Amino acid sequence: MTFARAWSVALVGVEGRLIEVEAYLGGGLPRTVIIGLADASLAEARDRTKAAVLCAGFRWPPQALTVNLSPATLPKTGSHYDLAIVAAVMAALGDVPVDSLEATVLLGELGLDARVRPVRGVLPALLAAADRGLTRAIVPALQVGEASLVEGLSVWGVQTLGEVAAVLRGEPVVSAPPEIAVAARPADSADLRDVVGQAEAKFALEVAAAGRHHLFMTGPPGVGKTLLAERLPGLLPELDLAEALEVSAIHSLTGEPLEAGLIRRPPYADPHHSASIASMVGGGAMVALPGSVSKAHRGVLFLDEAPEFSPKVMEALRVPLESGRITLGRSLATTTYPARFQLVMAANPCPCGRYGVKGAQCHCPPMSVRRYAERLSGPVLDRVDLTQRLLPMRRSYLRAVVGTGEDSRAVAARVLAARERQAHRFRGHFWRTNGEVPGPELRRRYPLPDGVEILDAAVATGRLSARGVDKVLRVSWTLADLDGAERPLAQHLHTALALRCGDDGRNDGRA
Ligand SMILES: [Zn+2]
Repeated sequence: MTFARAWSVALVGVEGRLIEVEAYLGGGLPRTVIIGLADASLAEARDRTKAAVLCAGFRWPPQALTVNLSPATLPKTGSHYDLAIVAAVMAALGDVPVDSLEATVLLGELGLDARVRPVRGVLPALLAAADRGLTRAIVPALQVGEASLVEGLSVWGVQTLGEVAAVLRGEPVVSAPPEIAVAARPADSADLRDVVGQAEAKFALEVAAAGRHHLFMTGPPGVGKTLLAERLPGLLPELDLAEALEVSAIHSLTGEPLEAGLIRRPPYADPHHSASIASMVGGGAMVALPGSVSKAHRGVLFLDEAPEFSPKVMEALRVPLESGRITLGRSLATTTYPARFQLVMAANPCPCGRYGVKGAQCHCPPMSVRRYAERLSGPVLDRVDLTQRLLPMRRSYLRAVVGTGEDSRAVAARVLAARERQAHRFRGHFWRTNGEVPGPELRRRYPLPDGVEILDAAVATGRLSARGVDKVLRVSWTLADLDGAERPLAQHLHTALALRCGDDGRNDGRA
C-alpha cells in the first residue's frame, strides 16, 4: 500500500469541517512534504510527527512522503492534525490496517516523546465529525469527557502513539487512567446571601436577571459592585441543551477543559480594563480565537472600572451588543462567533472614587470628574436599561443586616417564573426577554402601562431622554413579570423610572 487516508477536522469559528488527510509514498529521496493550505504550526507537524513515530518504535517512510490536507481551500491551523497525519502514514506503510481509519476521526497533538497532548476545540470538531457520519473518535485521554458529550461516536482516549496504534489494530489498550482535575466554577459558588446589605442594588440585580437587562452600577470602591456582578450568573436560568452546546463549544475552543460535562450554567467573563480589542472581541494571527464577548455568550460580561477601558475597546462592543455575534476577518479566514452576553458595568463616581460620598473628601478637579463620567461611550450606555447607584453603608446597619438577606436560590426561582412569562408572551418572536425587545415593537405590540403620562413629564423636565422611555417601558414589563401581573401597573412604571434614573427609589413595586 502506498496510499492511505485518515480524517480530522478544521475549525472555522465554532464550525467544524471534515478534513481528509492523505499520505502518499513515492519513489525518490526520503523527504516529507505537507501540502493543503497549512500554516506554520502545521509545517512543524512534519518534524514533530516523525520524531514521535521513531520515538515510539515505529517506522518512518524511507522514501518521499507527501501529506495532503484537503479541501485545500480551507485554512488549517493548529497542531491537532498530528494524530491523523501519523495514522495515515502508518496505514500507508501497512503498520495499521487501512480500513481502521474509514469512519474514525483523530484529534491530538504529539510530543516528541510520542505522548498525545490535549488540543482546543474537541467538542465542536467532533460534533462536525458525527454530523458527517463518522462513528469513532480517537482523542487525547484527558479529553475523553469532552468528546463523550457528542452522541453517536464511540470515543477512545489515548495517552501515547503506541495506544493509537493499538486502537487502530484492534488490540487491547493497557494504560493507567489519566488524572482528571475538575475545576470548580467560582461564579457558581457565589451566593447573594454573602453580600451584606445593598437591598436596592440586589433588587436591581434581580430585575436585570429577570428581564435580561444590561446593568450599570456606580459607587465608591468597596460597596460590593463586583460581588453583585459575580452573583448574576447564579440568578439566571440554566442553559437549555442547544445553548449549552454553543457555550461549551466556545469554551472548548479557548482550551478550557470540559471534564465536568456540558456547561449548563451561564458563563461569566470579567476582562481587566487593560484588555486589548483582540482579547475583548477575539483575535489571533491567522485564524481568530474567541474573545471575552464570546466567552460570555449566554452569560454575563462584567466590566469593572468601565471608564478605564480604552474607548476603542468599548466601541468594539457595539456590534455584538446589537447583533449577538462578532465577525473577525483574519489573513486565513473570516470567523463568526456567537456573542450574546448580558453586560454589567461598574464605575467609581470619579477617578479617586470619593466624589459625592458623604463624609469623604474628593480631591479630583471638577473637569476630571466630568471627563471620567463621559468616558463611557454613548452607544454602549444606550443599551443599558438599568442604572444603580450604590452607597457605602454604616457599620451599625451592616451589623444589623448580616445574614438576613435572601439566598440566590430564592431569587433565581422568581427570575425563572418571570422568564417563563416572557417566553410565553414572546413566543414566535426572535426576542425572548424584555431586555431584547426593540423599542418600536414594544410600544406597538404590547399594552402601555397605566399612568404612562408620567414618562412624558419626565422627558419634558429633562429627567429622561426620549431613548430612555423605551428602557423604562422594558423594565416596567420585567417588574410586572416578577409580580405575576398581566401588564405593567403604575407602581411598576414608577419603580422602573427610579431604577432608570438611579434614584433612591424605595418603592420597589412589591411592597
Ligand atoms: Zn475624586
